[in-house]
Amino acid sequence: MKGSPVPSARKEGRPERDPVIREFLLAFWKIHILHHAEEQGVYGHWMLEELHHHGYRLSPGTLYPLLGRMVRHGWLRAAKTENVRDARVYRITPAGSNVLKRLRASLRELQGEVGGVRTAPSKKSRPARRS
Ligand SMILES: [Zn+2]
Repeated sequence: MKGSPVPSARKEGRPERDPVIREFLLAFWKIHILHHAEEQGVYGHWMLEELHHHGYRLSPGTLYPLLGRMVRHGWLRAAKTENVRDARVYRITPAGSNVLKRLRASLRELQGEVGGVRTAPSKKSRPARRS
């Protein structure tokens, strides 16, 4: 699919420079990660590609510290590997599942308010109130 990328994430993520990334997109990415970690577990490299498919081009230098923070929060655990050079698989923890559950509820709520496809222009226009 050659969809147009998310405009603000077209360039490689520099969380420390781009306030949109720092304030919003990092959170989106973390939700993605939790979701996939719950489904099957994720490798860092796979996750980079997955986010890339969604139009987010972040670098390993952004992703790996982010995974590390999620591990430190106890939301993910990184499986031990035989060899230090082997890719580690990250899986969700029970705490991470709880977080994801909360976030899903918030996402639904947000989607209903902000992201919903409007069926018809709302006629129930509320009079602007002064308070
Ligand atoms: Zn995804």
